[in-house]
Amino acid sequence: MTDQTTFFIWNDESITDAAKLLKAGEVVAFPTETVYGLGADATNPVAVAKIFEAKGRPSDNPLIVHVANEQQISRYVTTISSTAKQLIAAFMPGPLTIILPSNGTIADNVTAGLGTVGIRIPDHPAARALIAEADLPIAAPSANLSGKTSPTSAIHVFQDLNGKIAGILDGGQTGVGVESTVIDCTSTIPRILRPGGVTRAQMEAVLGQAIEDAYTESASMTPIAPGMKYKHYEPDVPLILVDGEPTFFQEQIDMYQKDGKKVGALVSEELAPLIRTDQLQMCGSTEDLTTVAAQLYQSLRAFKATEVDLILAEFFPEEGVGQAIMNRLKKAASYIEIQSDQANPL
Ligand code: AMP
Ligand code: MG
Repeated sequence: MTDQTTFFIWNDESITDAAKLLKAGEVVAFPTETVYGLGADATNPVAVAKIFEAKGRPSDNPLIVHVANEQQISRYVTTISSTAKQLIAAFMPGPLTIILPSNGTIADNVTAGLGTVGIRIPDHPAARALIAEADLPIAAPSANLSGKTSPTSAIHVFQDLNGKIAGILDGGQTGVGVESTVIDCTSTIPRILRPGGVTRAQMEAVLGQAIEDAYTESASMTPIAPGMKYKHYEPDVPLILVDGEPTFFQEQIDMYQKDGKKVGALVSEELAPLIRTDQLQMCGSTEDLTTVAAQLYQSLRAFKATEVDLILAEFFPEEGVGQAIMNRLKKAASYIEIQSDQANPL
């Protein structure tokens, strides 16, 4: 499929024009507070099929449905449990997707025929205005080619999807930087299918009960949510996680450089002054993981295959939003990690 892609700068007029494309069954990328989404009318299977085609996304990986407000959620589900109601009240709009039982209004190719639907209310004025103006539930995965790093700016979307979609709405840099937390509220004990912008501790504090972590943390575990089994967040060159002291990190750089490799390093501002390598991308302080999350994907995208042969990435603390950061980095690394107390896995 080749389309002329219209690039919209976000204002009242462009919201109307972009909404017209959505109503006409076309695909439009738009900013949310997490990453850019690739939207289409979630009740129109032909429009939804264009998302899968543009991204090259496997059809058994369901899409999240974006709505404008709380009232609209009940249009698409059979029941909303009291747990789900508490989470909706506390975290929506925001970076949380709740899996609920579908009432069949949303197209089958959105839900991958699962009988459930993931719903979220984005906390970004452009996204909310666009969804309200289209007056439709909008199915939207991240606006990148399948398997690649999610876009945090309209330029990233343009690089991946220009000529493949009808429009891109430019609303500047996104805020949170990693995708929404996905929580399954159809099980007795709610379980996190993907860590993200809302943390487990925040949800447990609201619910007064424990929540299960049900996302895979190794390549060998059996996936529960369809999206878990696919390659994700893949940079242009291989990425390897390095866990250890700065001197150990430097030893790994030296080893690859001795092998004739150009080495990129994705590190905190604390580690950066302590190492020397071919290309360095800093993504904030280990004391401020919110900033690391916001900068993670643009830092990954900054490494180009023409400039480095591989990326060595620092381990960040797996607390709060650090759980989402490390989940994405481990997937980007295909779970390849070098630890100072183990033999090199390669
Ligand atoms: P993306 O849209 O690329 O950010 O990915 C959406 C994530 O939500 C994927 O991991 C999906 O597998 C997951 N997801 C969406 N809808 C459902 C659902 N009904 N049941 C389980 N997981 C879902
Ligand atoms: Mg995605």
